[in-house]
Amino acid sequence: MLNTYCSSEENCERMHEPLEKNKKEVDKVSKYGILTQKRGTMIKKGDPENARLLNRSLILRELKKHGEVSRAELARSLDLSKMTISAIVTDLISEGFICESGEGNAMKQGGRKPRLLTLSGDHMYVLGVDVGLTNTTVAVANLKGQLLLKQKIPTRRNHSLKSIVEQIIELIDTLIKEFAVSKSEVLGVGLSIGGLLDKNQGYISFSPDFNWKDVYLGTMLEDTLGLPVVIDNCSRVMALGEKWYGNAVAAGNFFYVNVGYGIGSAIVIENKIYEKNSEFGHVYITKRDVVCDCGKTGCLESVSSGQAIEKAANRRLNNDDSDWLTARDVAAMALQGNEVAKQIFEDAGKYLGRALAIAANLFNPDKIIIGGGLSNAGDLLLVPLKQEFQIHCMDIIKDSTQIELSGLGIDGGVVGAVSLALDQYVFHSERL
Ligand SMILES: [Zn+2]
Repeated sequence: MLNTYCSSEENCERMHEPLEKNKKEVDKVSKYGILTQKRGTMIKKGDPENARLLNRSLILRELKKHGEVSRAELARSLDLSKMTISAIVTDLISEGFICESGEGNAMKQGGRKPRLLTLSGDHMYVLGVDVGLTNTTVAVANLKGQLLLKQKIPTRRNHSLKSIVEQIIELIDTLIKEFAVSKSEVLGVGLSIGGLLDKNQGYISFSPDFNWKDVYLGTMLEDTLGLPVVIDNCSRVMALGEKWYGNAVAAGNFFYVNVGYGIGSAIVIENKIYEKNSEFGHVYITKRDVVCDCGKTGCLESVSSGQAIEKAANRRLNNDDSDWLTARDVAAMALQGNEVAKQIFEDAGKYLGRALAIAANLFNPDKIIIGGGLSNAGDLLLVPLKQEFQIHCMDIIKDSTQIELSGLGIDGGVVGAVSLALDQYVFHSERL
């Protein structure tokens, strides 16, 4: 499965262009004055214009964090003058990013009640795209991260680059038309996809799911869509969504495990996503002679993933060679009392719990979040997982580490993609 070359040269024409030609940097400052950082560069501090733009982002982040805030509270919390806050807020209101939402409480010493500010629920939008092996989901969201329109369709079985890019473009165009929004109101697109990639370059060095290598996907989509596009690895994107809108909002340090057909992972330390690949699915966990897609044996992915569950179920339960049992079928059978199906989930959960005890002992996270398609199995997976975790994790660490399912469910990927776009084009949380 881990071939490194695309199957069709014709369809991969763009992939094989010289890297410099296929590489493009997005504008430093958009027409709205929001930083759309040059790829691979840091924002320069000290320049007055940059300071103004950074202050805009800081104000927007305060509104994201607190919901409703007055101008005076912004001045206090950001240690900026009331005049500076007032000037930036006036700009942000006129451009449609924020609006006044009502009145707050008057000060103890009296005086007028302050007007409260909040992020705009309309006027400005981002798009989130979650490209999975089975399904592709696209959504329009506002600056509050609320999904306003969503569409999910099967990902084209022809996994050529050309075919998938065409499908993404068609989906986005359809959604923009249905939502009746103009592209000028869309600040940018966040895209989630599996594989080894460089977010700053919009570059996928290798996608095992689609068998792509050396693809500047971000630039390709930007050229066709006429919109800024940021891409990142699906597990990191899902962790970001969980941090912003899911069950990890209050967790500064957490480990996100994306348990689907394979097993991906992401690490968040002190509220920042660790940008390097985390390959938790390929830790060695069993002496059993089970071969993994990575070429090794005994990997966690080979015993706890959706793929592993399907293989075990079709070997043990599908005696008459009827239709291939999916992990969802096996979960349904387990819930109906099938003992073999229950045992298959119990085995998968135990291995996962044992591996998570190692991860927890390693960096002592506040939380471990289990997301991805297999998290829909709920207690079938979670109960044996927690039992095994309790057995193997050090007492002082297990007592302070919560294990929870994702709070975003099947929307985890697309909410993460929306968060990625908001982070890149509005809040800049990882760069300030
Ligand atoms: Zn492996």
